[in-house]
Amino acid sequence: MRTDLQGTTDWGGLELEKTIVNSLFNMGYEKPSDIQEASIPWQLEGRDVVAQAVTGSGKTASFGIPMCNLVEADSRDVQGLVLVPTRELAQQVQRELSLIGRDRGISVVAVYGGEPIAKQIRALEQGATIVVGTPGRLKDLMNRRILDLGYVRNAVLDEADEMLDIGFADDMEFILKRTPSTRQTALFSATIPGFIRGLIRRYLDDPRWIQLVNDSKGLETVDEVDQIFYDVASQDKADGIMEILDDIEEGSQILIFRKMQVGVDRLSKGLAGEGFAIKGIHGGMSQSERNRVMNSFRDGSLKMLVATNLAARGLDIPTISHVINYDMPENIEEYVHRIGRTARMGKRGTAVSFIGEWDFELHEQIVAKIGEDKMIRRQFSFY
Ligand code: AMP
Repeated sequence: MRTDLQGTTDWGGLELEKTIVNSLFNMGYEKPSDIQEASIPWQLEGRDVVAQAVTGSGKTASFGIPMCNLVEADSRDVQGLVLVPTRELAQQVQRELSLIGRDRGISVVAVYGGEPIAKQIRALEQGATIVVGTPGRLKDLMNRRILDLGYVRNAVLDEADEMLDIGFADDMEFILKRTPSTRQTALFSATIPGFIRGLIRRYLDDPRWIQLVNDSKGLETVDEVDQIFYDVASQDKADGIMEILDDIEEGSQILIFRKMQVGVDRLSKGLAGEGFAIKGIHGGMSQSERNRVMNSFRDGSLKMLVATNLAARGLDIPTISHVINYDMPENIEEYVHRIGRTARMGKRGTAVSFIGEWDFELHEQIVAKIGEDKMIRRQFSFY
């Protein structure tokens, strides 16, 4: 903690509430990250923003800091609203915003599906100044007249393109329509497909566009990740993963992606049988089980996790050192999101990808976008 800096209102040249600056220093945030430096001043001035930012760049705080600075601390009305695509992201954003707003006494409540609604209703009734939620559950709470968004001053759509992909397009609009048109709005999205462009036109007021992605490639690049590629036939992947895992230093934190839920179950059972302490996570599990697994991975007591794509977006676990694409993702955007789970905030990380017999098209796209010079080619010993 930098006690010498406590009690000021200046955080890396940004003028913020003293209590917010205190919280930031307590969290070890001594100065703004690039996306924060680029976006926070506009938001503090009341401008709407559209931001395309590199994954792991401090994106959450880039909307969380201005939001916690702008809302009234003791308000019992919901003044800040954050829409996110997944339950895990709702929990993570809630945690970070609570820390940022802690010294201002701001209460932040997360609402999402899969958990009893009664508990979330109680939390909202106790008073929430900021609500973070997935669109489906938010809409449900609004329809039950538990959640009144008529006092929202600051709304954020986080991972907007992902919400669109999951099928939340109508829900996003439903929710935005029921907030005051005077609200300030920020939208974060890796890509800006047509629907999102329309949403921006309809719901954002002369937004400031902030692009911290590599323009020439139209995508985030994750330069801090060593990207290693193996050609491997499907039936040899199980041998391949053993060879990889034997090579990784003991105690490393590893996230393995599979395409299907059943694949996650199979691989986690198989590797557990080989003596690895490993768990799986996917959408077919109960929310309490998902929470238990995610929490143990987050606190580091679990070192290896096999997941479907639900863990690809936004998850921030700075200790993840390796991401393994046992099954390749559907597209290049998803590839970049997945490998972005490692190498957070400038740390280095390693991504290992298994290029199977069906992955040639994606492989071509990776070569075209990432560039052969950044791709490290390796071969399994059994070939
Ligand atoms: P995000 O991109 O929001 O998932 O954040 C990535 C990581 O960076 C998280 O662990 C944050 O707690 C951390 N972080 C965000 N802003 C800062 C900052 N200004 N200084 C240091 N760490 C930060």
